[in-house]
Amino acid sequence: MKTGWKNNIHTLIATILNLILPRACAGCRKSNESFCENCQALSYKYGAHCLICGFRNNDGKICPACHTWKLGFQMETEFPRALKNVLWAGKYDGALREAVRQFKYRRRKELAEPLAQMLIKKFYEIHLTLQKDNFLIIPMPLHFKKEYERRFNQAELLAQKFSEVSGIEIKNNVLTKIKETPAQVEVKDKEKRIKNLEGAFSVAENVPSFTKHKTIILIDDVSTTGATLIHAARALEQSGAEKIIGLVAAHGA
Ligand SMILES: [Zn+2]
Ligand SMILES: [Zn+2]
Repeated sequence: MKTGWKNNIHTLIATILNLILPRACAGCRKSNESFCENCQALSYKYGAHCLICGFRNNDGKICPACHTWKLGFQMETEFPRALKNVLWAGKYDGALREAVRQFKYRRRKELAEPLAQMLIKKFYEIHLTLQKDNFLIIPMPLHFKKEYERRFNQAELLAQKFSEVSGIEIKNNVLTKIKETPAQVEVKDKEKRIKNLEGAFSVAENVPSFTKHKTIILIDDVSTTGATLIHAARALEQSGAEKIIGLVAAHGA
């Protein structure tokens, strides 16, 4: 109860600060901006890499050899083969990290717009031509306690914006976080981070056969090791998803 009370105070303070402080770019403090074009451009990284080994490629594909590599992720079962590609707009540092932090912890919801723009740019950089109907957006869920404390799910807001701009259908509440885990960025020990996530996700049982022929775009704000994406993808795969693309705003510890 005590932490809940404390959280309410923090939320209230953040809300008041947002109201009285003049709006400034999260990166460079330029006034009347949320995340200015210049900071977006500096944060954006062209190209893509394999999530596991970092090999630079054109589409963020996870190498076939890396798909078989599960020991480093301390997985009890196989690495999800359905997780084909992971894309990120930039590195989790500097201006982009500040933008993500303010979005999430200071509840600057207007930052969803520029961050989603970066996701759009990255997605279209790779998928130059696409049939919208072949894709389905699923946001990374928060555990309900965390969502209650934060008052919103930042990944859902990002995914919503991404859907509005791209015209790709979004489905909330398909994927659920059933286990409360410490924030990935707060757990220093990599092995612990990964172990914590075993069995953390569940997929709604009454899901239509959405998974069959669609490519799922799994959206999150940050990935550190990629463990959250991997575990969420595994839950979706176990429910029949055949192809999943991870799309995150910022990647790295
Ligand atoms: Zn700026
Ligand atoms: Zn690789």
